This record gives sequence, structure tokens and C-alpha cells, in this order.
Amino acid sequence: ELTMPRPRHRRVFSVANQKGGVGKTTTTVNIGVALALAGLHVLVIDLDPQGNASTALGVERKSGTPSVYDVLLGEITPAEAIQTSPDAPRLGCIPATIDLAGAEIELVSMPERETRLKKAIEAIDTYYDYILVDCPPSLGLLTVNAMAAVDEVLIPIQCEYYALEGLGQLLRNIGMVQEHLNRELIVSTILLTMYDGRTKLADQVANEVRNHFGDIVLRTTIPRSVKVSEAPGFGQSVMTYDPGSRGAMSYLDAAREIAERGTRELA
Ligand code: ADP
Ligand code: MG
Repeated sequence: ELTMPRPRHRRVFSVANQKGGVGKTTTTVNIGVALALAGLHVLVIDLDPQGNASTALGVERKSGTPSVYDVLLGEITPAEAIQTSPDAPRLGCIPATIDLAGAEIELVSMPERETRLKKAIEAIDTYYDYILVDCPPSLGLLTVNAMAAVDEVLIPIQCEYYALEGLGQLLRNIGMVQEHLNRELIVSTILLTMYDGRTKLADQVANEVRNHFGDIVLRTTIPRSVKVSEAPGFGQSVMTYDPGSRGAMSYLDAAREIAERGTRELA
């Protein structure tokens, strides 16, 4: 029986790291599905113009589909853009369409350009236990909008060369958002991804991250696994594509840890 504790208050996360390919989208999608399969109500907001989270969750994202772009422009309410993922009941997704590619520039001249997502999320009155925002691989206005809108940041770190490169910049940006836009923001969670147990390097990176960040690093690490990388091609999370796989099991464990530990301060 799959159960995870329901949070007392809605928990809103951004999944962020300005490096591409570190597992942000994979983590957003699979943690989201895992929480939803445990009976929790989850909304994934796809804030990356590439729309990979939308694709992996099997929701419509062709041009003209009501999307996060229209929400940011204030043209529709978030509720009007929410689709239900075929992957799990209780799993909603606000998709990203190709329109979002221009948003980074269009936002610059808009009023309240940093807090438009925050306003939108505050307006969501549907019940959700978790809202997860999948960030693009940059520190531009879209990511700033995500940081201003959430309470917690989840940083996936790939167990590879240069894993820590750029983290300082990310943390400094988070610090600026804390100072100017969102005092409540904390980096609550770090998840080690694409861990390859056969390499010494993966262990070195994992140890370095644990020494540096302490217990905000989840005990669970996500192994590098072909199943995880295949699943999006079928419009599925690995949780439904191959529920018994190591990738699926470890995302389930990571989701359970997140649900059980609640929020924590950055060490
Ligand atoms: P990001 O969103 O940070 O750019 P993605 O989640 O899209 O990163 O992952 C980058 C690529 O690595 C994708 O092709 C994805 O399928 C693959 N990938 C992610 N996690 C794993 C894993 N644990 N094992 C194998 N491949 C993975
Ligand atoms: Mg991504």
C-alpha cells in the first residue's frame, strides 16, 4: 500500500538548476507522479519553453493550447490551463507551448514582471498538496518568477564532472530573490541524480555534495537508468512506464522522503 503523509499546508517547489540536462524535468515529473500515486493532489507547472515535462506527462502542448504563457500574460486563469495527466489521477499539469520561448523577453517590459507566476499560483483555489514548477536551464526572468512564487527549491545535482559548477551562481540568485522578492524562500531539498555506482567519480561528487549541504540532501540517490530516459518517449513517467524498475523505485523513495521530512532550512 502506497501512502505518504499529506502536508498541513500546500507545498510549492521550484525544481531549479541553470545547467541543462541535470534531471530537473525528470525529477519534477517522477516526483509529481509518485506523490500523486500515493493519493496526494499534485500540480506540475511546466515553465520551460522546451515543454519536456508536458510531453512526459502526456498532456497536449501544441501551439494554441491554453498554457503557462497565457497565464503569465494574465489572459487566462491557471484553472483554464490545467490538464489532467493520463499518468495518474489527481495529477494536473499546466503545459508549456512554444509561445513560452518569447516570454523571457516579453516579460521584461511588463508590469510586475518578476511576480506574475506568484500571482497566478496564489489564485489557484483548487486543492493541491504539492505544486512543482519545472524551471528552464537559465537564471532569467522565468526562473526568477518561479523563485518568487514558491516556498521551497529542489536542486537536482547530476553525479558527474562539473556537478558543482554554477551552483554558487544559483545560490547567489536565490539569495537575491530572498532579499528582494520572497523572504520565505528556502533551498529545502537537493537530489543526486544519474548516479552511476560503477564510477568512483559518482561517489566523489555525492560525498562532496553531502559534506557541503548536509541533510537537505535526500538520502535517496537516483541511479542512471535506461528506463528513466526511455519513458518520456512514450509520453509517460518511469513510474508508469516501468513501475518495478530501479529508477521508478528510487523516485518513489525520494518522493516519500520529501513528503516525510517537511521543510528544512538551508544549512
Ligand atoms: P533537465 O530538465 O535538467 O534539462 P532532464 O530531466 O531533461 O534534465 O534530463 C536530461 C536527459 O537525461 C534526458 O534525456 C533524460 O531522459 C535523461 N535522464 C534524466 N535522469 C536520468 C537517469 N536517472 N538515468 C538516465 N537518464 C536520465
Ligand atoms: Mg528540463
